[in-house]
Amino acid sequence: MSLKKVEIIELLTQTNAEELYQRADKIRHENVGDEVHLRGLIEFSNICRNNCLYCGIRKGNAQVVRYHMSEEELIETARKAANIGFKTIVMQSGEDMYYTADKMCRIIEAIKKFDVAVTLSIGERTFEEYKSFREAGADRYLMRIETTNKELYHQLDPQMSWQHRYDCLMMIKDLGYELGSGIMVGLPQQTIESIAEDLLFLQKIGIDMAGIGPFIPHPNTPLANEKGGTLELALRTMAVMRIMMPDINIPATTAMESLHPQGRIKALKAGANVVMPNVTEGEYRKFYELYPGKICVNDTPIHCRSCIGMKITSIGRTIGNGFGSHIKKN
Ligand code: SAH
Repeated sequence: MSLKKVEIIELLTQTNAEELYQRADKIRHENVGDEVHLRGLIEFSNICRNNCLYCGIRKGNAQVVRYHMSEEELIETARKAANIGFKTIVMQSGEDMYYTADKMCRIIEAIKKFDVAVTLSIGERTFEEYKSFREAGADRYLMRIETTNKELYHQLDPQMSWQHRYDCLMMIKDLGYELGSGIMVGLPQQTIESIAEDLLFLQKIGIDMAGIGPFIPHPNTPLANEKGGTLELALRTMAVMRIMMPDINIPATTAMESLHPQGRIKALKAGANVVMPNVTEGEYRKFYELYPGKICVNDTPIHCRSCIGMKITSIGRTIGNGFGSHIKKN
């Protein structure tokens, strides 16, 4: 549905929150149904060449215990996730150049043998690399634009270029990946108007999936003393996104649950239809600390799978057993 910026701002700020969530929930039900698609998230490296001010694993944070999984370890983690029923594996990391294109391609090829959809979330790479990952079998790519306010982006992501990130998203789309993006809400100096522009941007570029997360200040970053985003603003933004983009995949994000124990369930009732349970093993979960208060850091993949499964069925939804790709309706 096409909305004007003023209408989006009104929905984000004026409309009764419960009414907004119910409207988004109805649109979700009518367009993508009651299935919730699960994606097994592997946080395979917290080594990053970037220094984003908001991020706990920024290069400048000397207190992080750095790790990356070996090729074998990563493939084995994916195999176990596929064995417990995940039909999509999401591989996420900092921008870690240890994973050369050749290495990534070998990993993707191995994981594709487990009959799963493969999503990459490893940041900015060259066109040739994106192309080789796609040829190796990667189905989807997830990279948030974070904000469309270029000035703010350049303040928060020094040494990075908004235009380059955008160009990467376009390359990914052109290569035939399902494109995932998204933003954080509650960033310092970010306005409601800017969030409205973000939503119009996501709609315009024709995303297949988008995640909305509240910004949560990390104590070992330059933004430690900022306020951060609220669950309400994140849910409202997500609900408006569902109204604007009825058939896309929308995750109930982990950051939402980190602000409230029922955050993901609230999100599933306000437009979301995807959850990305963590399937990272052992201590790595704790070391992949983008923001403080991250949920489930001491849990195991099977525990997370059954815990979220129960929560989903308790609200009358079912767990999808297909790949859960974006099916375009218009
Ligand atoms: N290197 C990859 C993955 C980044 S981490 C990439 O560039 O895409 C995944 C997401 O976590 C980021 O895109 C950002 O939106 C979110 N994130 C990072 N720090 C955060 C924080 N302090 N609070 C909330 N979300 C955060």
